[in-house]
Amino acid sequence: MAPPALTPDLIPPPVVEVCARLREKGHRAWVVGGCVRDLLMGRPVSDWDICTSAKPKQTQRAFRKVIPTGIQHGTVTVLWKGEGYEVTTLRGEGEYTDGRRPDEVFFVDDIREDLARRDFTVNAIAYDPIADRLEDPFEGMADLEAGKIRAVGVAAERFAEDGLRILRGARFVATLGFELEADTRAAFFGALDTYAKVSAERIREEWVKTMKARAPSAAFRIMRETGILERTCPLLLATADAPVGARSAWEVSLDALDASRPPPEERLAALLHAVGRPRADEGTFARAGADLLEGWLRELRFSNDERKLITHLIRLHRVDGAAGWSDAEVRRFLQRAGRERVHAVLRLARAVRQAEAGDVAEIDHLKARVEAALLEQVPLTVGELAVNGKDAMDALGGGGRAVGELLRELLDRVVDDPALNEREPLLALLHELAAARKEAS
Ligand code: ATP
Ligand code: MG
Repeated sequence: MAPPALTPDLIPPPVVEVCARLREKGHRAWVVGGCVRDLLMGRPVSDWDICTSAKPKQTQRAFRKVIPTGIQHGTVTVLWKGEGYEVTTLRGEGEYTDGRRPDEVFFVDDIREDLARRDFTVNAIAYDPIADRLEDPFEGMADLEAGKIRAVGVAAERFAEDGLRILRGARFVATLGFELEADTRAAFFGALDTYAKVSAERIREEWVKTMKARAPSAAFRIMRETGILERTCPLLLATADAPVGARSAWEVSLDALDASRPPPEERLAALLHAVGRPRADEGTFARAGADLLEGWLRELRFSNDERKLITHLIRLHRVDGAAGWSDAEVRRFLQRAGRERVHAVLRLARAVRQAEAGDVAEIDHLKARVEAALLEQVPLTVGELAVNGKDAMDALGGGGRAVGELLRELLDRVVDDPALNEREPLLALLHELAAARKEAS
């Protein structure tokens, strides 16, 4: 199907107005890059990037409210009708000597020069909504129609400038559902040393964006085939061939990834759930894998919260034999998983079980039991006990570490039998446990 022709009415009026204002001041302006690509594909546009022949100072003068967000790169944010729009002066780029950033940025007058520094042809289309004119010097429209990711210019040269581009290429294959054009793909291998210089932050950002694809696995297959994965996550590669039933850990992990839900932490947990497999047995590999991943997630500069959630999900997702669990065992699972995170754990368990071609009825049944326990409001933390720290101190006749230990002991009893969580019987039990402690010491 041919992509729709662009018409000015497809661009939100405020964006057109920003372009019109620049035009009134004697400049030119285009929408450019990802937004044009997404518009032509009929995909939702997340942000509108505008580029202009106006120099940053001229852009600032053309509008009442501007924020000089990235003025050294020529970007200012124009505030227009309550929204911010990034307006960037047309740029050419100088030499890249470090494989990451151009040595210098300079401004140009020709839109085609600006498009020439962009990574892929489908990202190098600009549209002037005032003149109703498309700029497509690298035939990005044809590649959009053919579903091809093709580098602008000579792929090997472009990847030598900025090693991140190969990872972006893999990402676009998954998010757009495209194929890598053959010469572009062939140039991936030669770019791996440049890729190795890319900062962890930029790599993490691309991984997270990859997770927005309907089926992110396509990107990871390319990463494995082209050597990117070996440079980024050797842990995952080392597990790839471990057998899981009749399949490999790699195939199971990719299927689990595609079956998992969109929050990036859940998808990462699905992709990485099996990295502990070669080193541990069926009962312990999830825990071993989560331990291994702590360091890697730090290296890739995931935040503490992201890291904790990903490893938590992985540690807890094995619920083999849950059909035979007692109610107390279900409550203990809920306690370990935590009220806020138990549903994410169950979603991961289900995605992985499905990928292993196992029986998901067991997981669905566990979910129903967990939900029943949640409705019963069973206490899961010492703070939810019907007695408190002061009661424990009274019973012990003092404070210190023993207070926390005693309350946790009590909580264990209550998780086994929630009916105990009434103040009077619980106080009695507290005194009993305190006395037993005194005797033991
Ligand atoms: P997304 O939908 O994920 O935002 P995008 O194509 O808009 O995808 P951005 O990272 O927002 O990607 O970049 C905007 C545009 O800037 C791209 O479409 C491309 O033209 C250009 N660009 C971004 N990163 C690079 C890069 N590393 N090398 C060359 N051009 C780039
Ligand atoms: Mg974008």
